[in-house]
Amino acid sequence: MTIQTSPSPATPATALAQATQTVSPVVALGWLHTAKFLTTAPQLHFLPPLEVPEIAFVGRSNAGKSTCINTLTQQKQLAFASKKPGRTQHINLFSLGKQGVTDAILTDLPGYGYAAVPKADKIRWQQVMANYLVTRENLKAIVLMCDPRHGLTELDEVLLDVVRPRVEEGLKFLVVLTKADKLTRAEQTKALSIMKLQAGGGEVRLFSAPKRQGIEEVATLLWQWAHPDLPSAATATDPVPPESAEDATE
Ligand code: GDP
Repeated sequence: MTIQTSPSPATPATALAQATQTVSPVVALGWLHTAKFLTTAPQLHFLPPLEVPEIAFVGRSNAGKSTCINTLTQQKQLAFASKKPGRTQHINLFSLGKQGVTDAILTDLPGYGYAAVPKADKIRWQQVMANYLVTRENLKAIVLMCDPRHGLTELDEVLLDVVRPRVEEGLKFLVVLTKADKLTRAEQTKALSIMKLQAGGGEVRLFSAPKRQGIEEVATLLWQWAHPDLPSAATATDPVPPESAEDATE
């Protein structure tokens, strides 16, 4: 499979712009809105090798990952495609980029820890995930969804151990504390500081789909990680009216 990718015009001037500006959330959200299903595969070796930066979303099932992806991309059903029969234990890739030029990939790794899944399938899926997270060459960032009411689960801890060497080598890492609307302000502050200690130098953000909390911050961070060599497009204006996320009914 071939996809069109954009050149990377890194110059001292753009590096300076990057260092001194922050991208507009409108630009970051407009970019995320371009997400399109690219491919799905049961294992890493079936995925096309790609050169554009890849950002992987992971988390235990029910953590709020699909809702978060749909909210960030302002597409009601995008991540729920990953929950279709046959894809629940697949690596699902979505392309991102304006004007049909793919400049990054968003990867949805379906949730782990779902009680009803047979043990052998759980173990197989953990191996597929670990293999992807450790060896996917263009992987630039991992976003771990965590419901702060439950904190990190045992499998989250295993995942952190698996990716730690890559994070120490520069892989970006973000913990999204989902469903923040379920916590009081004091509980949010506490959850944030506890997770900052656990995240091993990674970023941590509070997120709520119904309250639209943290959306711009997370979008901006992902844009910056996917475009390390580009100037910040702080002046660009192509707003995308945000659609409401999938009903957050829990
Ligand atoms: P996934 O299994 O990690 O993809 O989780 P889902 O996105 O399907 O969400 C699991 C449940 O949590 C659903 O009932 C969602 O409506 C709910 N949920 C997800 N995000 C939020 C949120 O920000 N706030 C609230 N209150 N509920 C949420």
